[in-house]
Amino acid sequence: MATQYTHCDICLAACGMEVEVEENRIVALRGDKDHPLTRGFLCPKGMASHEMVSDPLRLRHPYERTGSTWNRIAWPEAYRKISQRLRDLISKHGKNSVALYYGGGNATSSVNYMLADGFLRALGSDRIYNVLTLEFTNRYLVMEKMYGKQFHVTQPDLDQTDCLLIFGSNPMVSLDHPGIVASLKNLNRRGAKLIVVDPRKTETAQMADIHVDLLPGTDLFMLRAVYTHIFGKGLQDKEFLDKHCVGAELLQQLPPVSAEEASRICGVPAETILRVADEFATARSASAVCKLGVNVSTNCTLTYWLVEALNAVTGNVDKPGGLLFNPGILDMNLLSKVAAGFKKRKSHIGGFPYLSNSYPASEISRAILMDSPDRVRALIVDAGDPALLFPNSSRFEEAVDRLDLLVSVDIYMNETAQKADFVLPATNFFEKDDLYIIFPDHFPYPFGQWKHKVVDPPEEVKPEWEIFRELSRHMGVPVLNQWPMEFMFRGGEVLGKMLGTPDRFAFDPKNYYRLLLGAMGKVKFGKLMKNPHGVKAGDIRFGAALKRMATPSKKIEVAPAEFVEALKQVAPPPDPSDRFPLTLITGERSPHTKNTQLRGVTSLTKKQSGNSLRINTVDAASASIRDGDRVKVTTENGAAAVQANVTEDIRPGVVSLTHGWGRRLFHPETQTTVEQQGTNANLLTGDENLDELCGMPVYNAIPCAVGPEEG
Ligand code: SF4
Repeated sequence: MATQYTHCDICLAACGMEVEVEENRIVALRGDKDHPLTRGFLCPKGMASHEMVSDPLRLRHPYERTGSTWNRIAWPEAYRKISQRLRDLISKHGKNSVALYYGGGNATSSVNYMLADGFLRALGSDRIYNVLTLEFTNRYLVMEKMYGKQFHVTQPDLDQTDCLLIFGSNPMVSLDHPGIVASLKNLNRRGAKLIVVDPRKTETAQMADIHVDLLPGTDLFMLRAVYTHIFGKGLQDKEFLDKHCVGAELLQQLPPVSAEEASRICGVPAETILRVADEFATARSASAVCKLGVNVSTNCTLTYWLVEALNAVTGNVDKPGGLLFNPGILDMNLLSKVAAGFKKRKSHIGGFPYLSNSYPASEISRAILMDSPDRVRALIVDAGDPALLFPNSSRFEEAVDRLDLLVSVDIYMNETAQKADFVLPATNFFEKDDLYIIFPDHFPYPFGQWKHKVVDPPEEVKPEWEIFRELSRHMGVPVLNQWPMEFMFRGGEVLGKMLGTPDRFAFDPKNYYRLLLGAMGKVKFGKLMKNPHGVKAGDIRFGAALKRMATPSKKIEVAPAEFVEALKQVAPPPDPSDRFPLTLITGERSPHTKNTQLRGVTSLTKKQSGNSLRINTVDAASASIRDGDRVKVTTENGAAAVQANVTEDIRPGVVSLTHGWGRRLFHPETQTTVEQQGTNANLLTGDENLDELCGMPVYNAIPCAVGPEEG
């Protein structure tokens, strides 16, 4: 039996794992006590993740679909057929007829994304879409405008802050920062304030000193009142604003919003809003952050900006206890520019900015369905299930029917894969090497840990990087869209063969990162290999980032003109109508799932086998709904049936249905479908209600009605 160290790949906390392996089987899995950031912690998802390795439903062979029948296909044949069809489409309809979408199925597997992205760019297509554009790219736009670079992402200094203000996040369940549970508990112990703004009394809100259960989509108005109060009372940090920022006067000159006015719009007491403003502005140090709940709501970019700028206005950026910048072990800004080029791009449909090297995924269905010779005709989906994750599932289904070619690279035959022409079986994270570099803002300091392959995959299952490497070869294009790199690795393959070690210099994650870290890393590859629990690659030097802002003014631009103008146009949301008297949110996190993932892991599905609709007791009583009843939820976009969970933990007027459910896993060998798990919340969401600045769709704050299923 051998003990190996790696880290979990399900979410961005990347918790350290200790894995016992015997005869290529994982026989024990536990948290790595020597991991410097997570110290033995694993959540239920991480603890059960090894079940994916032996899951009977996982894909073990490549398949080709003929009509409704799936047949095994040999890898060389699959590569040959897919390449031929791509070549035909490109020669007939142009390079942009091929598109790529990559999902969050391998949250931290950087090399997979790089190879997939590089493959499309090498084909000459820029129709590249990723999952971040559904829930995160508002923040990249805010970072670019305020600090000058998209990947210059801030995070709260959790262990030193005196006041943590969280909008739309439940970190006690999402757990996406290592050590977050201990840090939050410690806030209480050391007398720091925790303020949570969320329509639901979440696990995190239950620990808060102040819980603001505002109406979904109204955060922006609460923030406006907070700013009005801070400027009105002179609580802003004038010295910090003068020295490090430009544009504060534009914020100050915005038409005031009183706490009473915000109270009417947000549905919370005016005194609570004023108390939040006072607590935050007068704390010795403070951090304000917003996450998914805001990101998937109306006005997500403007709200994110007002939260981020609140830190600057109160002098809490790049200081202990405030927001900090972690530069990571590799420069993501530079890497992304090298991958995508330095040209400014706008999406061809909505004219949205190019963020995280991607156009908004909310545009894919229209890019396929549009009546134009330039439309997308082939889609490659890597580690994602857009059929369940995209807003307006019905439109995506219609779009898929118009494709000439759909290829899915995944661990499972998920909802999207079931409509594909080819399905290529990919490894899970125990079966591949990689390095997590994309989200350094989830670590408190520059940190690297090699993600070691701990078991070999089934014979016909391959890591995504290898699949895209082979597709590149078959299409005659260079790996990562870089001919010098292609020639170097081809030479390495020849040399390796001559020396009798064919893999020694060939392209693989180890050789690639050896090269990259050697050229520009803060830690060398050899050091990562010698330190299986990970390597701290430097400290955060507070104040350093303020000296190298990449904005035109070289300072923090707290009020970008485009945001200020857009903010002036925002009107309060209309009152609920008789037709849709309630407001639906779908972005809730669960301890046993992550988006569409982990549906096949038996010990997790035993704990939660579906989603239900949270509805307040008052709303339930007025609609004669009892706990456990089947109900119908209706929105402008569609209807869905689901079980009611009548509860006090959500405010009246709001209902919550977690997205990512509704999957029917299909087994291609037996040609059978496993029973549907839960309800697809995206039958209720629309794909036309987009944030006008970044193009992200609105999954929260959707007017809805709830009634008996038979109604
Ligand atoms: S918190 Fe995230 S990274 Fe850690 S074990 Fe759970 S799913 Fe894995």
